[in-house]
Amino acid sequence: MSTPTPVRRLVVVGASLAGLRAVEAARRTGFDGEVVLIGDEVHPPYDRPPLSKAFLGVEGERGAGEAAHFRTEEVLRTELGVDLRLGVRATGLDTGAREVLLGEDRVPYDALVVATGSRPRWLPGTDPAVDGPVEGVTQLRTLDDARTVRDAFEAGARVVVVGAGFIGSEVASAARKRDLPVTVVEALDLPLTRSIGPDVGAACAEIHRAAGTDLRLGTGVAGLATEEHDGRRRVTGVRLDDGEVLPADLVVLGIGVRPATEWLEGSGVALHEADGGVVVDATMATNVPGVWAAGDVAHVANPLYDGEHHRLEHWTNAADHGAAAARHALDPAAAQPVVTVPYFWSDWYDHRLQFVGTPRADEVRVVVDDLADGGGLVALYRRGDVVAGAFVIDLPRQVMKLRKRIADRGPWDEAVEFATTTAAAARARA
Ligand code: FAD
Ligand code: NAP
Repeated sequence: MSTPTPVRRLVVVGASLAGLRAVEAARRTGFDGEVVLIGDEVHPPYDRPPLSKAFLGVEGERGAGEAAHFRTEEVLRTELGVDLRLGVRATGLDTGAREVLLGEDRVPYDALVVATGSRPRWLPGTDPAVDGPVEGVTQLRTLDDARTVRDAFEAGARVVVVGAGFIGSEVASAARKRDLPVTVVEALDLPLTRSIGPDVGAACAEIHRAAGTDLRLGTGVAGLATEEHDGRRRVTGVRLDDGEVLPADLVVLGIGVRPATEWLEGSGVALHEADGGVVVDATMATNVPGVWAAGDVAHVANPLYDGEHHRLEHWTNAADHGAAAARHALDPAAAQPVVTVPYFWSDWYDHRLQFVGTPRADEVRVVVDDLADGGGLVALYRRGDVVAGAFVIDLPRQVMKLRKRIADRGPWDEAVEFATTTAAAARARA
């Protein structure tokens, strides 16, 4: 058997969280070969979570209107020795020649980390590239999108958000903090169903309503109402399936994402049948030697859940897996399965929502429900007789302890007992 050629050139495509963590991890291993980081945004890597939270705040509040760059271009280029190519899109991949295609240009690699993340969906009829631009209608993914939303907030916009997932709920929270009128339109009967399951969505709906958000569940959008001025189209409202038109100056679409893998089509890298994400094993390896993937773009096998594949769209996953993918890409022989308990947080009004583990469960039991009395909520997710997930509102001290139990596949009964008694103690202290 021939010895694999050592990696001298690592190429990372996607200059956001997973890509950045990949290049940082590569250097931390002592790798002194070439590192190329290619990203189609013009900005150096920045943090997305603040964009739907602190960034939207009123001037003078912490983080309001400020981009949270992870590192400057200078540091990336000089301290980390990264060949940084910003504003450049990968258009294809030649796995035979081991080259990334950038239009007419080709960038050779010994090892490649795919970290191209995901892109938001447009509602039918709203994609500016296909249907032409409509002022006042936006997604919220990039720094520039966040500036559009913030400017509209500053102008006192009437806000309609489509989708009661993460974007929709966080944008509604930020708008209500400024006392702006907000309506959230969600096709499903409860918010956040895909991420936490249907059993605890009612508590989330109540959080919106208590903050004065007009939440329309089980409601479809038929289209936009617009008017034209000087040849430019501007939104005036959102037309619902039942014919009602909700007046709006700002419409934010938060209806989910698609993995950014169009550049990999036909390359031989296996893409997931249902949504086109890159399929990787538990070490982040794709089916093609030398090609690894991490972050929002990757469908990863998690040994904790018997190798079940899932594509996670959360910060911690992108950070951890981005770093692991680079380490493994540089030394495939040493690659080990990455066993992590998925985690995310989200901030709604004055509440912190946190989830650890998986929402795919045999049973979901709400074991603590003190939200109405100013306390928190804990729901546990059971698979067989072990605890597999936990959804927690406003009881942050419980989360990491539950995460440990989930990692250890701890007994269900003990987790229920732990969550109940810990919450009772917190109640007594309050
Ligand atoms: P991305 O961040 O999507 O980055 C991929 C990068 O690759 C992008 O810059 C993209 O433009 C670029 N790219 C795509 N295609 C190409 C190509 N062909 N060539 C070159 N470059 C390309 N998660 C949480 O857990 N908690 C939160 O509170 C939270 N808040 C969020 C708030 C907002 C507004 C958003 C948008 C996301 C939030 N997330 C949150 C999710 C988290 O930010 C993502 O999971 C994370 O950014 C994923 O990182 P990534 O590097 O995999 O992908
Ligand atoms: P999301 O969390 O997947 O939520 C989208 C919601 O919109 C879903 O409930 C979806 O229902 C619904 N929807 C889809 N089509 C609709 C339609 N036509 N009309 C009304 N509702 C519709 O996605 P997102 O909120 O757009 O967030 C985008 C990305 O940013 C995600 O990757 C998310 O993880 C990330 N993000 C994360 C956080 C966080 O973790 N705190 C914060 C902000 C953003 P279906 O499920 O039926 O499609």
